[in-house]
Amino acid sequence: MSEYPEYEVSDVYEGLKDIVSADYISTSIYERLNNAVDCRTVDLKRAQLPYVVVRPGSTQEVSDLMEYANSKKIPVFVRGSGTSLSGASSYRHKGIVLNTSRLTHFNMVEKSCFVEMGPGHCAQYIQEQLEKEGYFLPMHPGSMKVASIGGIICNNTSAHCVDACIGKPGDYILGLQVVLPTGEVLETGTKSLRRPAGIDLTRLFVGGDGLFGVITSIRLRLVPSFRNAYGIAFFDDAIGAVRAVQRMYTEKVPPPLFLEFLDEWAAKVGFKAQGLEPPHRGAVIIFQFIGQTEEEACAKRDRFLEVTRQEKATEAKPIDDLDYWNKVWTARSSVGPLAAQAEGGRGLSGEIVSTVEGLEDCYKDCLEMGDDMPTLNTLSRKYVYGHLGALSFHPAFITPGDWSDEVKAKVVNEVFLKEARLNIKYETCGGEWGQAARRVPFYRKRYGEKSFQLIKGIKRVFDPNNILNPDAWLEE
Ligand SMILES: Cc1cc2nc3c(=O)[nH]c(=O)nc-3n(C[C@H](O)[C@H](O)[C@H](O)COP(=O)(O)OP(=O)(O)OC[C@H]3O[C@@H](n4cnc5c(N)ncnc54)[C@H](O)[C@@H]3O)c2cc1C
Repeated sequence: MSEYPEYEVSDVYEGLKDIVSADYISTSIYERLNNAVDCRTVDLKRAQLPYVVVRPGSTQEVSDLMEYANSKKIPVFVRGSGTSLSGASSYRHKGIVLNTSRLTHFNMVEKSCFVEMGPGHCAQYIQEQLEKEGYFLPMHPGSMKVASIGGIICNNTSAHCVDACIGKPGDYILGLQVVLPTGEVLETGTKSLRRPAGIDLTRLFVGGDGLFGVITSIRLRLVPSFRNAYGIAFFDDAIGAVRAVQRMYTEKVPPPLFLEFLDEWAAKVGFKAQGLEPPHRGAVIIFQFIGQTEEEACAKRDRFLEVTRQEKATEAKPIDDLDYWNKVWTARSSVGPLAAQAEGGRGLSGEIVSTVEGLEDCYKDCLEMGDDMPTLNTLSRKYVYGHLGALSFHPAFITPGDWSDEVKAKVVNEVFLKEARLNIKYETCGGEWGQAARRVPFYRKRYGEKSFQLIKGIKRVFDPNNILNPDAWLEE
């Protein structure tokens, strides 16, 4: 039985309309559906439909909303763009969807080298605003064009960016404004570029999967843009690409900003869609190096090109034509949806992270991922692509659209189970798309029962009634 009382939609609506203007509270079935589904494989059940979708326009409104929901013990699901791939944006309980799309202030304070913004902005919009003024946004998920900046910060996802080059998004967050599940408003961090040493609650909310508070404002350090140098390398045997990355790290070649991998099947789908000749076999990697000057960026890139040749790249070359770079980048970044479209199903992938030393074995494990699983092994093809420079692979499967919900649920479980086993094997932890939700069983095994209980304890302190994003934390 649910731990939350049941309400009528009209009761919740009445309770909220004194807090947020009725124009921004929707009980329309379409809005409620739209705001409760994610890119998941499994369909939404009627009993999981939210009561209402609310779009507060200020921190005060968020605070009042949380206070109201807490007093009534109604779950609140914070929704950026709902593109989470790990179950964080699919709800099992009825509740209020707090959509962040109106939390969109934007204030660039160049005199102090930071920008403050609301969480509801699309990441690409922020990127464009920063680039116009000569700055760089230090995060780049494949969902850049749709994901909200708040959702990205909650996951602390660097995605395409290579951690060893620029770190995680959280390294650039100077401070936050957060509304607690009980309604109190917190300020964290600093306005200085000198970040607090010692205890800084900012770090709990960044990467906190939306479990501890609603982020209503983000202060991000302004990062000046740099110069770029691009390249591509083709391999008849994908292992060569993997070894080139191992050598890059062990032979002290400065890591790139992006280094992306497509296996034969992924490259075929992606390259063809861009009108490019795909590799006949093996794999392709594309990379972008950065530097203060063009010479510096090119020197780093050229050093890596040498490494790829030592690992038997059949073709390894700089890319000077930005149109070509944009095409190969799009070939990589759209491969998931393209593969799903080509096979007429829905995409499903895991995130397997390796150590530098284990990278070759890890790639081989990704090739075999699912072969020993009863449902996954019925799927004919696997695509392996990913952020190879960041030591992260996405083995991807396409599930037929006409599978029953039960079978779809099984296959999703198998992917997360295999993902967990491999990340435990390599003693790693990624967390792309969100660490909680479906990855709680992994977390418990990887870090032990004590760690798990500590996090539950922290959640209880912040959220005594467990009303904030309760479904971003699936325990079973
Ligand atoms: C085509 C595609 C490509 C993708 N590529 C990547 C990738 O390369 N790397 C990667 O990591 N992910 C990727 N994703 C997954 C997803 O886009 C990211 O996880 C993204 O960070 C989620 O942003 P969102 O705005 O959609 O968040 P949502 O899905 O809306 O929310 C994610 C979680 O954050 C919480 N949340 C959101 N905003 C707030 C807030 N203001 N305060 C408190 N909690 C909040 C939500 O409650 C939820 O628990 C991809 C998804 C798609 C569809």
